[in-house]
Amino acid sequence: MDGGMVIVGAGECGARAALALREHGYDGPVTLVGDEPHLPYERPPLSKDAMMADTPAVQAIASEAELADKSITHLRPVTVASVDRAAKRVKLAKGGELAYDRLLLATGATPRRLPMPGLGARCVYLRTFSDVLAIRQHLKPQSRIVIVGGGFIGLELAAAARRLGAAVTVVEAQPRILMRGVPTEIAAVVHAAHEAHGAEIVCGSGIAAIDDDGQKVRLTLANGRVIDADLAVIGIGAVPNTGLAEQAGLRIENGIAVDAMLRSSDPDIFAAGDCCSFPLSVYGGRRVRLEAWRNAQDQGALAGANMLGLDLPVSSVPWFWSDQYELTMQIAGLCDEAETAVRRDISENAFILFHLAGDGRLVAASGIGPDNAVARDIRLAEMLIAKRARPDPDALASPDIKLKKLLAG
Ligand code: FAD
Ligand code: NAP
Repeated sequence: MDGGMVIVGAGECGARAALALREHGYDGPVTLVGDEPHLPYERPPLSKDAMMADTPAVQAIASEAELADKSITHLRPVTVASVDRAAKRVKLAKGGELAYDRLLLATGATPRRLPMPGLGARCVYLRTFSDVLAIRQHLKPQSRIVIVGGGFIGLELAAAARRLGAAVTVVEAQPRILMRGVPTEIAAVVHAAHEAHGAEIVCGSGIAAIDDDGQKVRLTLANGRVIDADLAVIGIGAVPNTGLAEQAGLRIENGIAVDAMLRSSDPDIFAAGDCCSFPLSVYGGRRVRLEAWRNAQDQGALAGANMLGLDLPVSSVPWFWSDQYELTMQIAGLCDEAETAVRRDISENAFILFHLAGDGRLVAASGIGPDNAVARDIRLAEMLIAKRARPDPDALASPDIKLKKLLAG
């Protein structure tokens, strides 16, 4: 090997991959190329603590000193423009090339754009720390914020904006918030929390028009209602960054298609994190693409190992969390694999739903409550899912029967 390891994308996944290469003893060149100006940083705080801080700051995944100590070259802000698979080189947008022995594409995802005219300077998206700085200045008492999309970005941002005293309206086109992947019962608790904290949530209404004059923005809903605001934040999903992979002729299937070892259709090119789809063994090899922090972290570490030929398959159970006000929601597994659900009350204001497939197998667990109320049981449920267990539904529903006991059984 002489070109070394090149990683495109210095986010959660790319940074973890670079560190993993060193943890596994690789001593050749490691180059992490990122198009953002910062050190690799954590994205989850962007819609939570970092957004609410008096002076927002990035939470770095690795410090300058750690990268230097591990001889990881971090090029920033540098965009990779193309991949030449035959020559095993990547071309940089600013000129110059990098040779690679193995390449990892950890290019993440980009906010889906609202496809309508009228958007201007007061219509923004949230993905990067720079976006936080643009939004944060408007989150104050007397400001009016409208959020398009009742998904995770929209709702976490709504909670942050309310904490900072701004008036908030969330507009969701679907009949309820968190329509995809979050059960109705849990979404209802989240909806009620927002209303209790003074955020308005409007469901079942599309947007007919947007008029943004650069100072104010006016949204006209399909039902004729007009909402005036200082800022509109659009959170209507994310699309995987597959441009480089497409240009390089790699297989694409809802993201860059990789195998269980995160290898793309070119054996020297790996892809991981938000940008890739992969087969999930716990669900019989069903191909999924996950947009979640732990997945990016785990796959980064795995990709680093597999770039060195360790051939470790993805085996984890999907898991993510969302913090809104005093509530934390956690979901393990894939709820859409389920036919029925049983409920276990953890305390007066915390509960878990266990989602069962037609054959009784536990395929997902979703919980909500204050702080970490559901964390321990969701962790145990995750282990039951990984074991492909078929626990007795009555036992799952009974708070008196410890999940640990079911796991041992
Ligand atoms: P990214 O973090 O998107 O990193 C990819 C990087 O590659 C980016 O910096 C991008 O600019 C760069 N890049 C792309 N193309 C190129 C190129 N050609 N050249 C150079 N660089 C390039 N998940 C949870 O589970 N819980 C949460 O509470 C949570 N909160 C979140 C809050 C926010 C505001 C956001 C945006 C996401 C949140 N997530 C959360 C999701 C989680 O952060 C992502 O799943 C994770 O960051 C994905 O990591 P990644 O490395 O795959 O992609
Ligand atoms: P999301 O969770 O997919 O939610 C987008 C929401 O907007 C969906 O409910 C969607 O409905 C709705 N929508 C789509 N088009 C619309 C329209 N024209 N008008 C009104 N609503 C519309 O995506 P997101 O909240 O934008 O998050 C973006 C990324 O950040 C994702 O990768 C997400 O995982 C990540 N993130 C994660 C967390 C977390 O896990 N806690 C927190 C913040 C961000 P449909 O279902 O009909 O499309």
